[in-house]
Amino acid sequence: MTDPHPFIAGLPKAELHVHHVGSASPRIVAELAARHPDSKVPTDPEALADYFTFTDFAHFIEVYLSVVDLIRTPEDVRLLTFEVARDMARQNIRYAELTVTPFSSTRRGIPEVAFMEAIEDARRSAEAELGVILRWCFDIPGEAGLQAAEETARLAVERRPDGLVSFGLGGPEIGVERPQFKPYFDRAIAEGLHSVPHAGETTGPQTIWDALTVLRAERIGHGTSSVQDPKLLEHLAEHRIALEVCPTSNIATRAVTDIELHPIREMVQAGVLVTVNSDDPPMFGTDLNNEYAVAARLLKLDEQGIAGLAKNAVEASFLDPAGKRRLAEEIDTYTANWLRGPAR
Ligand SMILES: [Zn+2]
Repeated sequence: MTDPHPFIAGLPKAELHVHHVGSASPRIVAELAARHPDSKVPTDPEALADYFTFTDFAHFIEVYLSVVDLIRTPEDVRLLTFEVARDMARQNIRYAELTVTPFSSTRRGIPEVAFMEAIEDARRSAEAELGVILRWCFDIPGEAGLQAAEETARLAVERRPDGLVSFGLGGPEIGVERPQFKPYFDRAIAEGLHSVPHAGETTGPQTIWDALTVLRAERIGHGTSSVQDPKLLEHLAEHRIALEVCPTSNIATRAVTDIELHPIREMVQAGVLVTVNSDDPPMFGTDLNNEYAVAARLLKLDEQGIAGLAKNAVEASFLDPAGKRRLAEEIDTYTANWLRGPAR
């Protein structure tokens, strides 16, 4: 196929690995910055575009934290969440599990009940007005230690919002061993939440094994280093444990040195359920449609193959069975109509 972009743009999609604050586009950041003129974040779009041009990973962290600093009130939370859904609707994303780090907000003084109400209000509006179904993954910011883990588990269990489906673990992996988080995952799983930690993004396959055996992971965030361990690939394939692959993010963070060397091919060849995701899209200069185009090129996929990736995400999602069926049918119908189209 020549240019996959038009097909991908219209394709109904699900996204399983995308961060709340990390989805704040320059448009959203400008709105938030205008609400808080004392912040150092520029408000005019041109200066903001420069601000968002990352020089290195340290710069990414700096910008990320300055966006975190703009989220000070429940109304900021609501605005960010709804506007993220608007950006999703523009890409025909119909369902997204958004990774939210409530600890960063409650620590900054946003009352926890108001925080939950703000995301839930945005979720209901996004579904009613934009046709985007949102679900939450509450994740532990690994770098903030066990106190953050304790607080995140408590919020997930005691303040559980209706849209919460899963429990995650993000932040750096090096020096942040997965097994120490076992009690918090146990608590979340006992409450019926799904386990979806990041693992094997910047460390080896043992981290993924730890996520599987100790944290009882049902999907793996990234799992890039799984290709170094054939037994692990076999295990993932056999148990249909999906990998949430984020190609451009892996390049931006140097988890993978060159996009041409991205291990997504080996994952697919091993029969692993691979999903394509955008992680922190505006911060990595990408969006989900672009990630699908990157994956299509690396995997040499035609329209059916690309639709197959979209259906992998539906299968691996925590959407209810009827919702999964509906979305999978939408993908099939769209693809069939496209392939029958007069221009093709
Ligand atoms: Zn992530």
